Amino acid sequence: MSQHTTLTAEQIADFHDELEEQQDDILAAGQNRRKLTRTLPRCFTCASTPIEIVISAPDADGEPVKLVFDRCGHTFLATPDVMAAGLRIHNTRRQSPQ
Ligand SMILES: [Zn+2]
Repeated sequence: MSQHTTLTAEQIADFHDELEEQQDDILAAGQNRRKLTRTLPRCFTCASTPIEIVISAPDADGEPVKLVFDRCGHTFLATPDVMAAGLRIHNTRRQSPQ
């Protein structure tokens, strides 16, 4: 029914970038209770803003992680290797902005 798109390390890095920007914004808002403008990372396929992203752990070693975006329903797979590589790219970007 739904297609499962396999993600690249670059896409995982972008995903982490967006997540971290959102967290920074929440921390910065602190007790000011100002309106938060950041949202969850957008869907890789349709770029819609999800209300939830369900990430399921792999059943076995080496199995891909599954990310399901609610509500568009787009589903993505990323192997542990790609997840790790994406995180490395993200961390490198973090250390040297731009
Ligand atoms: Zn989507």
